[in-house]
Amino acid sequence: MDGLHRAVVVVGGGQAGLSVSYRLSQAGIDHVVLERDRPGGEWRNRRWDTFCLVTPNWQCRLPGFPYQGGDPDGFMVRDEIVRYIEDYVKFADVPLAEGVTATRLRQEEAGGFRISTTHGELTADHVVLATGPYQVPLTPRYAERLPASVTQIHSADYRNPGQLPEGEVLVVGTGQSGCQIAEDLHLAGRRVHLAVGSAPRVARCYRGRDVVAWLDDMGYYRRGIDQFADADAVRFRANHYVTGRDGGRDIDLRAFARDGMRLYGRLSDIRDGALTFAPDLRKNLDGADAVSEGIKDSIDAYITANGLDAPTEKRYVPVWEPDTEPSEVDLLAAGITSVVWCTGFGRDHRWIDVPVFDGRGYPTHTRGVTSCPGLYFIGLPWQYTWGSGRFCGVADDAAYLVSHIAAAGRPGAGSEVHWIAGTPESTYPGDEYWTAPRTVA
Ligand SMILES: Cc1cc2nc3c(=O)[nH]c(=O)nc-3n(C[C@H](O)[C@H](O)[C@H](O)COP(=O)(O)OP(=O)(O)OC[C@H]3O[C@@H](n4cnc5c(N)ncnc54)[C@H](O)[C@@H]3O)c2cc1C
Repeated sequence: MDGLHRAVVVVGGGQAGLSVSYRLSQAGIDHVVLERDRPGGEWRNRRWDTFCLVTPNWQCRLPGFPYQGGDPDGFMVRDEIVRYIEDYVKFADVPLAEGVTATRLRQEEAGGFRISTTHGELTADHVVLATGPYQVPLTPRYAERLPASVTQIHSADYRNPGQLPEGEVLVVGTGQSGCQIAEDLHLAGRRVHLAVGSAPRVARCYRGRDVVAWLDDMGYYRRGIDQFADADAVRFRANHYVTGRDGGRDIDLRAFARDGMRLYGRLSDIRDGALTFAPDLRKNLDGADAVSEGIKDSIDAYITANGLDAPTEKRYVPVWEPDTEPSEVDLLAAGITSVVWCTGFGRDHRWIDVPVFDGRGYPTHTRGVTSCPGLYFIGLPWQYTWGSGRFCGVADDAAYLVSHIAAAGRPGAGSEVHWIAGTPESTYPGDEYWTAPRTVA
């Protein structure tokens, strides 16, 4: 990398970075994508064996390369997702530097950026940060008080039930990972204890179609974050739980409980070999159901308003109710030998030495464009729409950023603009900048 200059350096070769690369190539903008591992690494290395998408395959629409398999309404499993990403790298002919980690990012006095990497330093006029929404596995610190005899892992390291010692398993958290891992263990015949949080749920199908298909028709996935009064809260809200497993179905925690899973409220403490739970199990179950039923209400309203012909469907009736709020469990007495922390991920931006973060360390941006000219983010959850951090919306964000990059031109003076050989396929505003000194990198 030493001494290399590119008009744009993209850091991260997941679906977000690759989508930007495709759009940059289309616009004839010289760039390189730095990837510390291999594209698709997040899916390959951090998902369990039975993992599959929650969103239907037709929502996989990376720019220029929508899902083309034979099961658009199905849900790709882990290895198929990895293959989709690998095929995209070939399709988009991505100028990729694999095995290169960006370790420091600074602004140059003369304009542009200097990127230190594990393979030397390079400079760029623009930098797009596509390092992923789920970087650092988060575990609450009371985990340190679990007895040493209990095996504990984060969902990022969970692969299959056989990995855990014999005995009962505590799963903490009921976001998408927690619910699916609890189900994976439950289906394998393991006795599961589940600490239920406040994540909402959504039905898989309603009135004859996948709920995602209804919401897509209703424009939900195109709704910009600027249309929400509580944008900040929307960005940090937990995802709805549902599954694509076995062709797709609901996840109903009450049904799990009916079938033998032990449910509790949020895990609030660990002390002297005992687990303490908050008395909010009923509230969390009711809340998740209320969200799911509310989504159905909005689908009903849409069907009525548009005079659509859709089969009617009975509403959900709870199949189980907690008779108590269990507050304490002794690990030994319950036979719990392992804990899977499904408590989410954080981001680590400490290597980015540019003052664009707020007090929480969240990048301040509008649609990925930061206050520092030339610095962009892509792939943040709700960066602009629901789909920004997912397969379905990243293409729009990539197009938006690349048009912005093209229009902005080069921030500050300095190096030449390099073009990829050939003529750009599409024109963006700001072409006068991009047709400056033409050299082939
Ligand atoms: C459990 C789970 C289930 C999900 N299910 C779905 C689903 O059903 N449908 C859906 O559409 N989305 C789903 N997502 C969300 C989303 O699609 C994925 O998180 C996706 O991986 C995000 O793509 P990305 O390119 O933004 O980030 P990533 O895939 O995380 O890619 C970022 C890349 O940057 C690299 N990188 C990071 N730091 C550096 C550095 N300093 N230098 C160089 N390289 C670096 C990483 O190695 C990585 O390859 C799910 C996410 C999770 C966690």
